[in-house]
Amino acid sequence: MELDGRLVNSIFINGEWQAAASGNIKDVYNPSTMEKIKAFSYGGKTEANEAVEAAKAAFPLWSAKTARERSTLLYKAYHTMLERKEAIATILTTEQGKPLAEARGEIESAASYLLWYAEEANRLYGETIPSSHPHKRFFVIPQPIGVIAAITPWNFPASMITRKLGPALAAGCTVVLKPASQTPLTAIAIVKVFEDAGFPKGVLNLVTGDAAAIGDAFMENEDVRLITFTGSTAVGKLLMRGSAANVKKLSLELGGHAPIIVFADADLDLAVKMSLLSKFRNCGQTCICANRIYVHDSIEKDFREKLIKQLKLMKLGNGLEEQVEIGPLIDEHAVRKVKEQVDDALSKGAILEYGGKAWNGELQGHFFEPTVISNVTDEMKVMSEETFGPLLPIQTFDQEAEAIAKANDTQYGLAAYLFTENIHRALRVMEKLEYGIIGINDVFPAAAEAPFGGIKQSGQGKEGGREGIIEFVEMKYVSMGIK
Ligand code: NAP
Repeated sequence: MELDGRLVNSIFINGEWQAAASGNIKDVYNPSTMEKIKAFSYGGKTEANEAVEAAKAAFPLWSAKTARERSTLLYKAYHTMLERKEAIATILTTEQGKPLAEARGEIESAASYLLWYAEEANRLYGETIPSSHPHKRFFVIPQPIGVIAAITPWNFPASMITRKLGPALAAGCTVVLKPASQTPLTAIAIVKVFEDAGFPKGVLNLVTGDAAAIGDAFMENEDVRLITFTGSTAVGKLLMRGSAANVKKLSLELGGHAPIIVFADADLDLAVKMSLLSKFRNCGQTCICANRIYVHDSIEKDFREKLIKQLKLMKLGNGLEEQVEIGPLIDEHAVRKVKEQVDDALSKGAILEYGGKAWNGELQGHFFEPTVISNVTDEMKVMSEETFGPLLPIQTFDQEAEAIAKANDTQYGLAAYLFTENIHRALRVMEKLEYGIIGINDVFPAAAEAPFGGIKQSGQGKEGGREGIIEFVEMKYVSMGIK
């Protein structure tokens, strides 16, 4: 593996960096400038199966290590990652586009999952169950599931990886990672962190390349005991169907369509600031970012005017420039999708308040102006489809029940937010929102120590927290007869 050269041997199997057997490669672009940064190895089924073989061979030794030994290595990876924060953040911004300050934040967050699971490795307790029988004793012991296949997206190319690797490795599982093809360089840098921290050969393997071929290999290979996936609901469903054949376990973190509800009694300045941060962080390419904002009739004008005033101060551009607060979208397809939603809304009567079109400045990249529309109705696509871009639609409401019904009227159930200073309303509304994650006067709920995950078509299972490691163990039940 040579990150300095243009061509990177990006496949890591049993401790060896290698090229794809086919010799295939693929380019990585900077979405701000459209420059080709590197080319990486484009593997497929062969490499995926070899990596599973290596992970299987490494499993007996890794799972037999004491929790303390696994924890010590995870602590090392945590420190190594933080030492390399600046370098990895720069790679991340260069291939993904988000502003450097956000990329640094992501590396810190990514490292925090390694720290948390270095600690959790030592707290993976079993249970004894009071027996109903005088001559039997019942125990439950957690045991690592086995070989894990992890598939991750480009929008958080560092933290979506460590949120899986931390708990899987802590539990004693071995892993084959397949990262997104738009951001393989961050994945390589992270795997290098684990290699340098001293993880044994075969415990963590990396296969970059053809998603469909690698995904098929994961689904077909009986030695893969669980697929942990973060990405779109469409691919999540495909993995569910494919995994049914051999009853493979799945952990799925899928799409979202988060509402923000701003009540008349909200702290307006806080709601404005948080709505901006939620919507425009990572250029709106966040699974838990606000997709639609419901504002009480009585404060909508104030809210909108304050929001646009602040939005005008936010600088759009190349994420490598320190003052930039909004970067590019990941690709041309993403720009088209935002444009389509804007055009659809305007054709159905929405009012364009700010932005509204693709932007290039002096750059060649995939930029779209941060955009605000009002007079929005439920028939507009933006109110039912995940945007994954910098479009903020504002719809008004009158009654609390109406806002809750609108917020819940979706196939998604990842995150929802509400702003109110009324504690009774906060609890009442929180309980009625059909979402896995609720932010009350807060839009940044993700934390290594808390369980993150969606309901409905946003997924199944949790990442982070005590719950996150449970995904990677089987609870073995033991019934013991005694004389
Ligand atoms: P995506 O197209 O589903 O891709 C995600 C990953 O799946 C990539 O590694 C991709 O590889 C791979 N993939 C694509 N087709 C596959 C197939 N047929 N079999 C196996 N793997 C396949 O999603 P995306 O557009 O990159 O990411 C955005 C989506 O992720 C959004 O919907 C967002 O809400 C969701 N997301 C959810 C969470 C969460 O925690 N719930 C977090 C972040 C993102 P290639 O890159 O090689 O195509």
